[in-house]
Amino acid sequence: MSDNLTKLDKIVSLAKRRGFVYQGSEIYGGFAGFWDYGHYGVELKQNIERLWWRMFVEERNDMFKMDAAIIMNPAVWRASGHAEGFSDPLVECEKCKTRFRADHLPSPRLRQAGVEGDACPECGGALIRAEQFNMMFQTQVGAGKDSVTTYLRPETAQGMFVNFKNTVDALHPSLPFGIAQIGKAFRNEIAPRDFFFRAREFSQMEVEYFVREKEWKKHFEKWRKAVGEWCDAIGLSREHVHEVEVAPEDRAHYSKRTIDFEYDFPHGRKELYGLAYRGDFDLKNHSEASGVPSTYHEELGVSGKNIFIPHVIEPSFGLERTIFAVLLDAYTEDNFGGETRVYLKLKPVLAPVKAAVFPLLRNKPELVKKAQKIYKSLRKKIPATMWDDNGNIGKRYRRQDEIGTPYCITIDFQTLEDDTVTLRDRDTGKQERVAAKALKKLLHKAIV
Ligand code: ATP
Repeated sequence: MSDNLTKLDKIVSLAKRRGFVYQGSEIYGGFAGFWDYGHYGVELKQNIERLWWRMFVEERNDMFKMDAAIIMNPAVWRASGHAEGFSDPLVECEKCKTRFRADHLPSPRLRQAGVEGDACPECGGALIRAEQFNMMFQTQVGAGKDSVTTYLRPETAQGMFVNFKNTVDALHPSLPFGIAQIGKAFRNEIAPRDFFFRAREFSQMEVEYFVREKEWKKHFEKWRKAVGEWCDAIGLSREHVHEVEVAPEDRAHYSKRTIDFEYDFPHGRKELYGLAYRGDFDLKNHSEASGVPSTYHEELGVSGKNIFIPHVIEPSFGLERTIFAVLLDAYTEDNFGGETRVYLKLKPVLAPVKAAVFPLLRNKPELVKKAQKIYKSLRKKIPATMWDDNGNIGKRYRRQDEIGTPYCITIDFQTLEDDTVTLRDRDTGKQERVAAKALKKLLHKAIV
């Protein structure tokens, strides 16, 4: 087994053992492409979302939030081109019946043509071309003869395009400006695999940034930089992230330029994020199909108004792929006190638990009382503070290390005498004695 696969196995096991990620419907044997998040997985997810809102909306004055419905009028998907074109070429092995996306196959000949007769990468059987497979999940809305067939959205983007006019009318932004959204997307992937890298239900964090056509290159470059800064903020090493210019024939139907941000996942270098210049494709199509113009009106003083459809730059971030990459970059093993130690070197801003408070012994009421007092007062200032009195101190450290808790605080007999505690740093394992009353300030500085 290669080192990378070993690392993947370790992360899958840690994610389950410590309550981050579970296989969906696991007690029924699972359900391919669907995943459930446990307590620490939800905390990590929410911390990533909070940081994303902060960096891309709250710290700027040209961005607006949006939360659109998952199910939209089917006319949206006809106008966007998804009803017609959101499909992948499917090939099937005659012998083992495994299905592959032709564009994911190793041989360039197969990738391009999905040619019949080539060998199956799994068993060597003959591949046959099956069909073009639309990846949108269909659903029926309403009952009986009045029901309408539509789809679960395969991307969050369309919710922002169809609300372009509402945003302009309600918020009066001036160009350039952007709409940002975090939400679920659904794709009936032919081959969901590689832990939760390719799922059928996932979340996207997307920005539609509207610009004047002549300025698209400048804004594309700014967003390219911003995606890199985001990778730094979540602790991804730049060595593991690679920008790849996508060739015209490989771009999505709406894109005039795309850069993929690929990450060194254990199963290879694969797309983590995308940055696309979608031109005016979406706003133009929705204007024509709905009859409601998605236009921007620019006042030109005495010479009147310039009315036009803006162009759009779209940075698109998969939330689960972010979690996967963050876990991979954070997973660390070292040798501590003669033993192998595993810890998640998460950026404190993302850590599900910021600090854990322990009484040295759980059966000494005076220690527990003092520790509870410190814990309750810390929690008021730092809500993600955790109480842990399970097992001995060594076990508690190991548990917190695997969750990625940056600081552990132990209340011992000396605390009762001089009101100091031990503060242990996750990465160095070093412990120092600090005054209990200095904790709030110390931790606040370290984790914000
Ligand atoms: P891929 O080539 O891996 O199928 P894509 O090019 O179809 O991805 P986009 O349509 O650009 O992906 O979607 C934007 C982002 O949404 C991706 O960069 C990725 O982070 C995320 N994403 C897309 N499909 C999935 C999926 N099946 N599971 C998890 N995340 C996904």
